[in-house]
Amino acid sequence: MKYLSCKIGDVTIGHGHRIAVQSMCDTDTLDIEASVAQCRSLAAAGCDIIRLTTQGMKQVEALGQIRSRLEAEGITTPLVADVHFSADVALAAATVAHKVRINPGNFSKDHAVAMEKFAALTEICRRHGTALRIGLNHGSLGERITSRYGDTPLGMVRAVMEWLQMCDRLGFYNVTVSLKASNTKVMADAYRLLNRTMEDELGMMFPLHLGVTEAGAGDTGRIKSAVGIGTLLSEGIGDTIRVSLTENPVNEIPVARLLREAAALPPAGRDCTSFSIDAATREEFLVKASYMIGPALLDGHIDDFSLTATIAGRALTDAETEAFKDDLMQACRRRFTKPEYIACPGCGRTLYNIQSLLQQVMEATGEFAGVKIAVMGCIVNGPGEMADADFGYVGEGGGRVTLYKGSEPVMRGIPQEEGVQKLVELIRKSI
Ligand code: SF4
Repeated sequence: MKYLSCKIGDVTIGHGHRIAVQSMCDTDTLDIEASVAQCRSLAAAGCDIIRLTTQGMKQVEALGQIRSRLEAEGITTPLVADVHFSADVALAAATVAHKVRINPGNFSKDHAVAMEKFAALTEICRRHGTALRIGLNHGSLGERITSRYGDTPLGMVRAVMEWLQMCDRLGFYNVTVSLKASNTKVMADAYRLLNRTMEDELGMMFPLHLGVTEAGAGDTGRIKSAVGIGTLLSEGIGDTIRVSLTENPVNEIPVARLLREAAALPPAGRDCTSFSIDAATREEFLVKASYMIGPALLDGHIDDFSLTATIAGRALTDAETEAFKDDLMQACRRRFTKPEYIACPGCGRTLYNIQSLLQQVMEATGEFAGVKIAVMGCIVNGPGEMADADFGYVGEGGGRVTLYKGSEPVMRGIPQEEGVQKLVELIRKSI
């Protein structure tokens, strides 16, 4: 078995290197001042790799300026261009970023053309020492794959394997792979299957970037990420992690670092049902407890558990323990006592204040237990990435939103001030 590593600027991941923590700016990349300031804060918080939205050529140029400004300050944290769709933008970004994130299946509807463009991209990356992340998300697989395999972990793995086999043929190995999903079970199963498939079919392991997409904010966002990412880390799967929160991205870093620390501990026995946890902070408690208990719940090895815990020496009350238990059960998809919020973390493409909007949606929809409600920042990626949500609130731009029922846009051009009320009416009418 060959274990590959991926070099992103000064940071190397995979093949026994330390798990790298990463995040993504939610600034407009064209706002150089704001983006440099956020990168500075992320680097100071201990972020090892920073991603920025790079949807067009102007953003590529801005990214180059951001990199120069940071390097002039002595900040060498590698920068990743988040491109997704355009091969031309990816080619340009590969000359200024340390790494480019793409979904090569989106380069063209014609698979042969997408392959040609991908080959050209690897050549530029080789010349400039740039790494690639091939990032496929559940819910954004093309029809070519879903018609054969469905929108399943198998479909995600088959889609990414085509590109990894191509990397092997081209002799380009400076690559990381991600297969994110908002559903923790789908996410864990996809990465596990990819791990086995790389071993069986390639005889080599590309480094894996782990993340739960659209995890939301607050306790539930932290617990969901800790369950999905932690389950895989406890099995030795994963080389770099991103905890996605619909909050200031700097808040993601301590959570990810706590998760990395927790992963250094021996995992709890998979049939263990009684846990005792002492933590210094509430955040440490959420991460540690989710990491220790979550994997066995997620995989159905246990159905329930008892927990005693202290935070900074204070014992958790029964009400606090029950509230955590409800959140963990839901994150592990074992019992649904609240609505399931699928909220993107926001990025340079976000078309409104997603953090406050998510709070408004949560306040207005708390009664709909078990209903999956997506809150997505942009109409370009949002509809694809909200995967199996029952309802969606998606920013259109210009102060307007589109409401979705399943994958169908059912109300377009709604003024943002009316969006939450209309969403509640839509859910009430439909369930
Ligand atoms: S859905 Fe759009 S706004 Fe939200 S993180 Fe993805 S690209 Fe950014």
